[in-house]
Amino acid sequence: MNKFQRIFFDMDGTLHPIRQESFLDSPVHNQMVERSIVYVMQKLGIGKRKATELFEGIMERYPRFYSLGLQKEQGIDRWDYLVHSWNINPEGIIQRVDGLDRMLNDLTKRNDLYVVSDAPRVWMGNVMSHLGIRDFFSGLYSGTNLNLKKKQGLFPHILSDIGAEPSQCYMVGDEEQNDIIPARAIGINTVYLGKSDSAVADYSIRDVLSLRRIIVDD
Ligand SMILES: [Mg+2]
Repeated sequence: MNKFQRIFFDMDGTLHPIRQESFLDSPVHNQMVERSIVYVMQKLGIGKRKATELFEGIMERYPRFYSLGLQKEQGIDRWDYLVHSWNINPEGIIQRVDGLDRMLNDLTKRNDLYVVSDAPRVWMGNVMSHLGIRDFFSGLYSGTNLNLKKKQGLFPHILSDIGAEPSQCYMVGDEEQNDIIPARAIGINTVYLGKSDSAVADYSIRDVLSLRRIIVDD
């Protein structure tokens, strides 16, 4: 049995399930869009219809990078925008996985755990507090706040930050493009969480609790 491995967990869709096919259809994304429209109304002093049109255009032109679009096209400070639009209350819109806290607690006995997400820090903090699992993690990495997308350097940044070799590390996530492929590319062991097996991950699991089988028995 290996000791002292580092396990990186994606957050949305991994530490709490997203039932919808895509994050874009999830209640979290919907709430973020609603908050964004209110933010744009207040910042630019425009009405709801105009703000909605404007924001829909941004979503189309800057998929997954709305803050950059608002900064570029409207001169809006992206950090101010992110803190407001993502300060969503998780109550009622995310679900707890029964037994997750027990599994994380067990894993911390032989491993260091980290959260690695593209989500802004404010949302990571809200979710971790809501789920009551913050204390199991040695660190939280937000790609957005570090200005690093996973594909462009987030994993190398973390490895050097914690002083770990990729072979001692595992990345667990529900998105092949964002979680699995960039981690695998630098030699991190990968665990895909999804409805079917991944052709690119080292391991595939159907629910996050099945991680016990892989990490403990590996
Ligand atoms: Mg995810």
